[in-house]
Amino acid sequence: MNYAYQVSKIESFVVHYIAKPDFQISDVLANPKHEFKQSAYHLFYELIKLKKVHVYQEPNPVNELFGLIRKSLYLSDQTQSLVLQTVEGWWLEWYFALIMEQKINSDKGDMPSSYLSQNILNPMRKHELSHYAKLFTKLPMPICNVCANTGDILKVNQRFVDVFGYSVKEVPNLKAWWKKAYPDPQYREFVKKLWQESLDVAQENNNDIPANNYKVSCSDGSQILMEVSGINIGEEFIAVFNDATERMEAEDILRDMAFLDSLTRIANRRRFDEKLVQEFDCARDRNGALSIILIDIDYFKQFNDRYGHMAGDTCLYDVAQEIASTVSRPEDFVARYGGEEFVVLLPQTDRQGALFIAEQIEKAIESLAIVHEDSYSGLLSLSMGINTIDDNDTEDRFSFVKGADNALYYAKRQGRNCIALAKSETS
Ligand code: GH3
Ligand code: MG
Ligand code: MG
Repeated sequence: MNYAYQVSKIESFVVHYIAKPDFQISDVLANPKHEFKQSAYHLFYELIKLKKVHVYQEPNPVNELFGLIRKSLYLSDQTQSLVLQTVEGWWLEWYFALIMEQKINSDKGDMPSSYLSQNILNPMRKHELSHYAKLFTKLPMPICNVCANTGDILKVNQRFVDVFGYSVKEVPNLKAWWKKAYPDPQYREFVKKLWQESLDVAQENNNDIPANNYKVSCSDGSQILMEVSGINIGEEFIAVFNDATERMEAEDILRDMAFLDSLTRIANRRRFDEKLVQEFDCARDRNGALSIILIDIDYFKQFNDRYGHMAGDTCLYDVAQEIASTVSRPEDFVARYGGEEFVVLLPQTDRQGALFIAEQIEKAIESLAIVHEDSYSGLLSLSMGINTIDDNDTEDRFSFVKGADNALYYAKRQGRNCIALAKSETS
């Protein structure tokens, strides 16, 4: 569509007002009945309403129009761009209200039937209309309005287009949306099921559509984690998208903080307790092996006494990090078990495998060569106790840990700086 006439009218309107000596955009924003707003509405009335601009066209003519104005005006002037942005906001609102008005007053005639659902035909009061318009134009999150019966996407807001990169033309109905937003067929099925369940819950309880997280694929191929909830309005619903990525990241950080030992920067005892339950159950379910190594620093009290508590802290950090980097399989797990004790959990690892890892840890600490004049070797050393369960064992997780603890005690009694294996049930 050629908007040359409208562009020049709006441009001169904005320029004319800004040039007035008493014009202040803050006054305009503070006063909803400001003369400037009224004049802007008159202009809208003249250029869009009277001209009977075809309101069902996509892209939205208001967005197109203001896009052209932005290109043509010299917008390094901050006031000018703020004023233009304000006017665009109003126009979008009025334009949306106009569409709704036309929907209400029209006899279904020239519109796709899905565009008109029963409840939209019921006369909507003016203020409802304006709320609805505001919802679509003002809310800073993607929103879409869907006809529940046909699955047609009736309307999306500009933010929806900006964030996902799809206009109504590209996603005219839910079928197209599912395909584009969730290209992986397996994930798509999962999402469709989850969404249907949410709709059912909303219907049953006569309530809003509960929020769930969905990984949405955008037109540029990127993915965004969105928390999607919605409002049922008769035969239509409005889906609202909230960017969950930042919130999830914050939650992850908080979670990590709660489970991270502040001195050594590895997992803490609380995390270990949780992990032990998971891994123990998992090993039992799979009839697989699970090994644990309990590690205790030798003569650490003397280390503190001789070198000071600060040096002790640094040493604990170095040892923890060294153990963590030696145990490198992603499924393996290292935590600080207590003061100068550490624990390693090794899923699907038998006694031989665990012994091998313990020896690697022993070597790694040896190569750190931390001087400890009160130990026999003159260097800091570790004692370790190993226990393993496999499919023949019947013990519970407490005796599993106890077994490793007994082995560690045995290693200490053997003179320290060594590794001991718990007695196996079958041997
Ligand atoms: P063993 O060879 O029998 O293990 O002797 P040990 O001295 O290492 O054993 P014990 O359990 O008697 O002492 C552990 C010491 O670890 C006591 C405490 O001062 C020290 N310790 C525990 N937590 C920390 C900590 O966070 N920082 C420092 N610097 N030292 C700690
Ligand atoms: Mg100890
Ligand atoms: Mg010790």
